Amino acid sequence: MGLHEEVQTLVPQLIAWRRDFHRHPEIGLDLPRSAGIIAGVLRTLEYEVAEHIARSGVVGVLRNGEGPVVMVRADMDALPIQEENDVPYASVEAGVMHACGHDGHMAIGLAVATLMAQTREQWRGTLKMVFQPGEEGFNGAEIMMAEGVLENPRPDCVLALHLWSTLTTGKVAVTPGPVMASAEAWRVTVTGQGGHAAQPDRTVDPVVTAALIVTALQTIVSRNVSPLETAVVTVGRIAGGDAFNVIPDQVILEGTIRTYDPLVRETVLQRFREIVAGTAALMGANATLDLHAMTPALVNDETITREVQDVVRKTQGDEALELGLRTMGSEDAAFFLQEAPGCYVFVGATSPGKIMTPHHNPHFDLDEEALVIGTSLLLAALRHFMAFGRED
Ligand SMILES: [Zn+2]
Ligand SMILES: [Zn+2]
Repeated sequence: MGLHEEVQTLVPQLIAWRRDFHRHPEIGLDLPRSAGIIAGVLRTLEYEVAEHIARSGVVGVLRNGEGPVVMVRADMDALPIQEENDVPYASVEAGVMHACGHDGHMAIGLAVATLMAQTREQWRGTLKMVFQPGEEGFNGAEIMMAEGVLENPRPDCVLALHLWSTLTTGKVAVTPGPVMASAEAWRVTVTGQGGHAAQPDRTVDPVVTAALIVTALQTIVSRNVSPLETAVVTVGRIAGGDAFNVIPDQVILEGTIRTYDPLVRETVLQRFREIVAGTAALMGANATLDLHAMTPALVNDETITREVQDVVRKTQGDEALELGLRTMGSEDAAFFLQEAPGCYVFVGATSPGKIMTPHHNPHFDLDEEALVIGTSLLLAALRHFMAFGRED
């Protein structure tokens, strides 16, 4: 039986899993229902199962002789969004929705775990299936790592995918190097001396100071970062003042910084601090900066990624392979790929001709054909990296 026929045998189950997860979404690190289903399936397949890692994380290990340890990571959490799709499998939880596709990631993970367990004669080594909670801003990957998820056994290679709405179904984007950005969240508190709007000379105006900071920050990317490098500095929130005729004491700015390269990141952070402190000093105000590093850049290993590209060409055809897809979004799989070499793949999930709905939108829905493609791709990649006779 060829790869595609093999995956076809599991399609009704694959779709049933995805729709069940979709109907019953859970948020953050507490995903007892999803975790229970996953642990149950893995146990039936005779995986060694560890539960409650980062509260709801599940790890299934399948040992199948001498060979490499390959880890597959699937994220599990939904979002605080009210679903607006009118589909039979719509969320039954008010205000909670799988609007990023992680329902599909769990279903693909279970399908891959099933097919690998059923075909042990076709590969050797140790398969480590990692189902991760809390990807959407809950530090799930970091917490799982702190609880030892990368030990016993330690992976030689990490594979992960995201079903991707801006790619047409049938396309698979596999790009070496950085594909997602490092992310920091920042908050600047500008403190001046408030007073009457008609007597600005008797105040230290934090509104004008904040405005100058916002403008000066634009020069980091345009004047300090090389035009050949990649960075984003965004101010996403300005808050200050209560009345048209009052100069407030304080203005708050919040935003994010995104980069691909650690040296570029250092340059941006250094200029950021200098501009905030220098502009505040120039205006006689005070500014404090709270900087919160969220994720590092997600960097695909060159060698492994070239091999995954070959797997895509062989199993999905040359025309399926999309090169060069990168985003300035961030993803905490980056922590795993920082510790072990690997490849993170984007799998097209919008059917041809259909209007794309962005992730995190109340109308987001997956083309379920993408579940089949994601399963085939991971299965083929695992058998490639865990093939008999392959030199390590
Ligand atoms: Zn998301
Ligand atoms: Zn996501």
